[in-house]
Amino acid sequence: YKTYADQRVAVIGLGRFGNSLANELMRRGWDVLGIDADTRLVQKYSDQLTHTAVADATDPVVLGQLGVHEFTSAVVGIGSDIEASILISSNLLEAGVPNIWAKAISRQHGQILERLGVHHVVLPEHEMGERVAHLVTGRMLDFIEFDDDYALVKTVAPGVATGRPLGQSQVRSRYGVTVVGIKRPGEDFTYATAETVVAKGDIIVVTGKTGAVEAFTELP
Ligand code: ADP
Repeated sequence: YKTYADQRVAVIGLGRFGNSLANELMRRGWDVLGIDADTRLVQKYSDQLTHTAVADATDPVVLGQLGVHEFTSAVVGIGSDIEASILISSNLLEAGVPNIWAKAISRQHGQILERLGVHHVVLPEHEMGERVAHLVTGRMLDFIEFDDDYALVKTVAPGVATGRPLGQSQVRSRYGVTVVGIKRPGEDFTYATAETVVAKGDIIVVTGKTGAVEAFTELP
């Protein structure tokens, strides 16, 4: 998988999404250029980010002056102004930025960005809504869907997985899921093996096809 030799990213739009993202990247040691048209917002974050600029990023000349075309990664964190989101994404594509991420506020908005050629489109509200639905309906404590239709879930262990070594309970052959980790109250997470005996109340991390994982967490 790609590694980024160039740990610099331009974040355009420092609203709730862009600002959280920029701060997390800073925490991980990346250099962040934060751009927003709102002077007050830029002032607020100017001492938290490596560089900041007040600018209308829809203007390709301005983006060029800020050197954004030299970045390997850029994030467009503008949702509500769809026109600006599209214009800026298209300018970044035109400038040849190789890794462009953009946030969309609706599926249609996301579709347009994908058709433009934006490399990664995220729908924070839709994706978070789906994730939270998984948490609300059952025992799941955390849910991540990755690849097509595979999920990794943190859940309170259902009874079928407890009381016997995992190898004997045949969780994988019966339910199509793999227990990868286990956490007992007051202990750290450890990797699960065929010999691991899960107890009632233990928290486990399980992976498998999304449907299989969902069904497994709903077992008694
Ligand atoms: P969030 O929901 O994450 O707060 P918004 O879409 O509401 O996202 O925020 C977008 C941010 O992007 C705002 O701070 C706004 O000032 C900024 N913005 C909008 N249009 C432009 C533009 N053309 N150039 C630079 N910044 C912009």
